[in-house]
Amino acid sequence: MRAMAVQTSPPEKAPGTGSPEYPPARHFIAGEWVDPVSGQKVATIDPATEEAHGELARGGPEDVDRAAAAAARALEDPAWRDLPPARRARILWRLAELVDARRQDLALLETRDTGKTLFDSSRIEIPLVAEIFRYFAGWCTKLEGGVVPLPGQALGLTLRTPVGVCGLITPWNFPMLLAAWKVAPALACGNTVVLKPSEQTSLTSLWMAALGAEAGLPPGVLNVVTGSGSEVGAALAAHPGVHKISFTGSTEVGRGIQRQAADTLKRVTLELGGKSPNIVFADADRKAAVRGALTGIFYNKGEVCAAGSRLLVERTIYDEFLEQLAAAASRMRVGPPAEEGVRVGPVCNEAQYRSVLEAIEEGRRSGARLVFGGRSLREDLGGRGWYIEPTIFAEVDPDSRLAQEEIFGPVLAVLPFEDEEDALRLAHHTRYGLAAAVWTRDLDRALGFVQRLRAGTIWVNAYNLYDPALPFGGFGDSGFGRDLGRAALDAYTEFRSVWIQRG
Ligand code: NAP
Ligand code: MG
Repeated sequence: MRAMAVQTSPPEKAPGTGSPEYPPARHFIAGEWVDPVSGQKVATIDPATEEAHGELARGGPEDVDRAAAAAARALEDPAWRDLPPARRARILWRLAELVDARRQDLALLETRDTGKTLFDSSRIEIPLVAEIFRYFAGWCTKLEGGVVPLPGQALGLTLRTPVGVCGLITPWNFPMLLAAWKVAPALACGNTVVLKPSEQTSLTSLWMAALGAEAGLPPGVLNVVTGSGSEVGAALAAHPGVHKISFTGSTEVGRGIQRQAADTLKRVTLELGGKSPNIVFADADRKAAVRGALTGIFYNKGEVCAAGSRLLVERTIYDEFLEQLAAAASRMRVGPPAEEGVRVGPVCNEAQYRSVLEAIEEGRRSGARLVFGGRSLREDLGGRGWYIEPTIFAEVDPDSRLAQEEIFGPVLAVLPFEDEEDALRLAHHTRYGLAAAVWTRDLDRALGFVQRLRAGTIWVNAYNLYDPALPFGGFGDSGFGRDLGRAALDAYTEFRSVWIQRG
């Protein structure tokens, strides 16, 4: 095992300048940078240039074995097991500070890996990573159990205890942010972690582990193994030394993970796809609703599990709303994600680019009316970069693929509705149940929807807002279990029940 000293933080660079520092093309296991058993490396691609901009270790099952063994040792190491909760809290808080200090570097890596705008990565997502670590740092000292009345003079206690070694598998749309959603509560609860980021976007997750070590995490508490889903992810899901899997990604892979996890009876949390309804009533604040419809689907190029990809608009304002929507979409600049003023960067990878264009083609053939966009902008923007125009289809058949399947790209399906019951019926005409929103000035109506919508997150007069304290997760094919908030503590702890007999 080759080791390398963990690097310390360089000073922050001015926004958008310089080249960010890349992590070594190795795994991070037991507090050290470790070469993959295979000795192989793979390139990581910038979707704006279509060129390799970094290298990663190509992991396999033996690397997962090593990382799981390191995590198992760390779980029993007094340096972690017996660390007072207040000290654990300080380490997580310190990690948040290191993320803040490295914000610009991390944001640049994230933008190069994903194609998301530098504005979003540096002003919204990396700062939120730090906030999530601070939020869960606060919980370390508050993991209280209960006192339970028992017959006679006996006393019952419930004690929260870590689940054990947690295998965390994250996707490419919000690499460091979604890693933080899982790593922060797992560590706050005293678990140890093997993190497997998407092979397309692993750089910032590697830094998270190195910064964790710098913040004081004992060796083996937070390990990162890079490599593909089929080689590293599947090995993690099947590994007998892993007690829990938390996965964010596609419904199809999620199903497979649950099947694999069954053999070793792992606890499973699945955060899967969506086709979330964004419902606009005629009485809504029009400007806000148009803006909300746009950010609902075009934030991060539509590569958002909770994207408002089905816009339901009350019939009486339908035509006018579509016009306003198209006008606003035409003002959204598509282009290189690090450039000032760009709102929509390239789609994250070539496979996704092809699949989004295919969905648009199928939308055209289905008879839906193309209101805006619909084209690749790759040639217009110099022949490189997976750019697709923000695309809006109207008169979408509720049963068509356009209205039923997660496209995971900048493609909006707009459907009219007649009244509240019709809106609710259309909203529920899906196998998913991740998020929903309702735009109205009528409080009574809004509350009615809040009580009836089958969705894990419901926004009223807003879209795509998240807070570390508010749980997130789905119903139906969107998965089960909750990340964030107090609910995440239940996902990363087990209760031990104690019966104390007297007399
Ligand atoms: P995916 O294949 O489900 O990937 C998600 C994560 O799982 C990645 O780390 C991936 O690794 C890993 N993985 C893949 N196959 C695996 C397996 N057999 N066992 C264990 N882990 C495995 O998702 P994707 O292909 O990147 O995106 C496809 C679709 O997923 C999107 O179009 C979208 O519909 C959905 N999606 C949803 C979310 C969400 O937040 N709910 C996020 C991203 C994507 P590698 O990437 O390294 O192969
Ligand atoms: Mg994949």
